[in-house]
Amino acid sequence: MRITKITAYGQNQPFRDGAYTCSGGRSALGFDSTIVRIDTDAGLAGWGEMAPLGAFYDPSFAAGARAALGELAPALIGADPLQTIALNRRMDHVLKGHPYAKSAIDMACWDLVGKNAEQPLAEMLGGRFGDTVALYRSVPQAEPDRMAEQARRYVAAGYTRIQVKVGLDPDEDVARIEAVRDALPRDVVLFADANSGWNTHQARRFLRATRSLDYYLEQPCDRYEENLALRADCDRPLILDESIDSLAVLMRACADRLADGITIKLARVGGITKARLIRDTAVEMGLAVTVEDTGGAEIDTAAMAHMSLSTPESARLHTVDFHNWVTVSNATGLPPCKDGKMAAPTAPGLGVTPLEEKFGKPIYVAS
Ligand SMILES: [Mg+2]
Repeated sequence: MRITKITAYGQNQPFRDGAYTCSGGRSALGFDSTIVRIDTDAGLAGWGEMAPLGAFYDPSFAAGARAALGELAPALIGADPLQTIALNRRMDHVLKGHPYAKSAIDMACWDLVGKNAEQPLAEMLGGRFGDTVALYRSVPQAEPDRMAEQARRYVAAGYTRIQVKVGLDPDEDVARIEAVRDALPRDVVLFADANSGWNTHQARRFLRATRSLDYYLEQPCDRYEENLALRADCDRPLILDESIDSLAVLMRACADRLADGITIKLARVGGITKARLIRDTAVEMGLAVTVEDTGGAEIDTAAMAHMSLSTPESARLHTVDFHNWVTVSNATGLPPCKDGKMAAPTAPGLGVTPLEEKFGKPIYVAS
């Protein structure tokens, strides 16, 4: 199979619940998504999506992803999209770094791998473990009462895992997590996600003041070494998210016994090919694993669902239903979420049908 054409579209995806605010007051009103279609000489088309959370969350931004297509796409015309590792090496050869920019292309190739084999992506990625994956819902930073109210609404809607955005003033953050914990039933699992926002002294204050509460701590500090310094004082599960940008970091975290779990974001590591390598290694090393992404709607969510369901249940933490966060759609075919859980499509590849007629004029075409 050969790639004959690469087309990209942009889609603005406003958040249903208004501004999304995390540590340091960093805020976004929606995702700015790039959707990629890859056509082939076999008559099959593959689709992928990448949507950063603003330009502040990861070293990625929408305009960067689009500019990178001009470097990447011409070099991929004629390449075999089914040879995913060879194709990734080609992308890395043409453009150093910028993994987020490669993620939608890699995802579209995996859509083709599944369609060519007439198998859903979950089966192509190792097998389907169970029918559904648990979903978490983030409660953006606000006044404690407002956060508690929002968390209560999400739990009423069926979510059983709530991520509380902290990482600002540690005393105020204590009030945030206490308010949310008080508002929810005991069986709702809480994650205090600082999104790299604290220094170690702030994280220590938070940890000390919340000793009696049950929650997971996620990415307290920015630098790897700061998180490592906290480990000995953190008597609860510690999840690394922003730090996990490569297999090399995972290997280091395993050697340092730093993390109990990791969050892999497809765009951060460069797509499904590299996420799969990191995921499978983490599972072998006994870590809890979440596979998700930085944003997107149905196309991207389908990829997260397939990757999550092909992660053994004993190692799987949860994922996220981003298509339910936004007011627009970009594909049909994703099974409806129920009771805070999400299934993956059973049709070949990503198993969704993109709504191409809604995307407007392409922002980029290479052939
Ligand atoms: Mg996180």
